[in-house]
Amino acid sequence: MPAPAAAPPVLELRNLSRNHGTGIAEVHALRGVDLTVRAGELVAVMGPSGSGKSTLLTLAGGLDTATTGQVIIEGQDIGALSRKQLAALRRRSVGYVFQDYNLIPALTAAENIALPRELDGVSVRKARKEAGEVLAGMKLADVADRFPDEMSGGQQQRVAIARALVGDRRLVLADEPTGALDSETGETVLALLRSRCDAGAAGVMVTHEPRYAAWADRVVFLRDGSVVDQTLSSDADSLLAAEDAK
Ligand code: ADP
Ligand code: MG
Repeated sequence: MPAPAAAPPVLELRNLSRNHGTGIAEVHALRGVDLTVRAGELVAVMGPSGSGKSTLLTLAGGLDTATTGQVIIEGQDIGALSRKQLAALRRRSVGYVFQDYNLIPALTAAENIALPRELDGVSVRKARKEAGEVLAGMKLADVADRFPDEMSGGQQQRVAIARALVGDRRLVLADEPTGALDSETGETVLALLRSRCDAGAAGVMVTHEPRYAAWADRVVFLRDGSVVDQTLSSDADSLLAAEDAK
């Protein structure tokens, strides 16, 4: 169900480019990408390896700085923020699921989830309660007190997703969030992302799997740093074409 065009944009990328290196070693990881994601929308990003998907996501989450162009989150041009303001905006508004989880090894699952909330001034008691709830919602209550090295890859991945979803963040960015998951758990994760977007968040998810992209309202295809196609995810032919292009 596409979000109504009138829903406010949560994320706007305007003519966004990112180059790495200089001279003959210069790599154009992203070339003038425009993308608007509104409240209620889940957008899937697909494309071959090296096409700029992770670059797009790290720029959108304020984790990397664009060479040119703008990233606007909830109306705020993040290029105009101080580092401190940007960190606060990231904690409050952006949930980020890293491809390699990035859980803090010295903290339990529940503590990993509660930490960004506590940093944001939520009481320890409330943050732990929220963490317990989001873990239960992902059928992970039994790993709450385990450390990352005591969990399977799939469990770590789901804890990383729980950390991104806690606290009603308005923008959820996920880089191949289903990579280490079996297909049933992957569907559970997508259902959670979908319901978070249905509740008013905006989501952008990188995926290689047409099956998961089908949960999105739109699919954006990247190639060599440029958007080459955008389609409704219900258009099965495009998804199959994307599959062939892999
Ligand atoms: P994807 O996630 O689609 O596989 P990336 O966004 O990771 O692609 O990378 C896009 C391009 O930018 C690739 O050619 C990659 O090698 C290059 N790239 C990404 N990060 C860096 C970096 N820190 N330094 C140099 N090149 C980079
Ligand atoms: Mg990537």
